[in-house]
Amino acid sequence: MTTRHRRTALMLAAAVPLAAVTAAAALRASHLKLYADRHRIELMPQPRRSCPDCRGAGGWWVGDANPEMEACGCWSDRRTLRIPLRPARRVEPWPDEPPF
Ligand SMILES: [Zn+2]
Repeated sequence: MTTRHRRTALMLAAAVPLAAVTAAAALRASHLKLYADRHRIELMPQPRRSCPDCRGAGGWWVGDANPEMEACGCWSDRRTLRIPLRPARRVEPWPDEPPF
């Protein structure tokens, strides 16, 4: 391995953690939560601590006998970004013909 290759490998090794820290800071600053599994990647809005209405709780209870949670607009009015990764498995219809 030459000096040039070592330098490139070190720069690549430093770039991955730097990109992860930058992505985490961007998510925190934009009040988004990242969720990922093998089917999708989702960016979901989170309540803001500085919100004067809910103060980071995300909503409040309304109603007396059967209270329901009313969502605050600081997160419920923002859209969720969903990127599908793996299409859902298509189920074949049951065959109409007899097996024999
Ligand atoms: Zn709010």
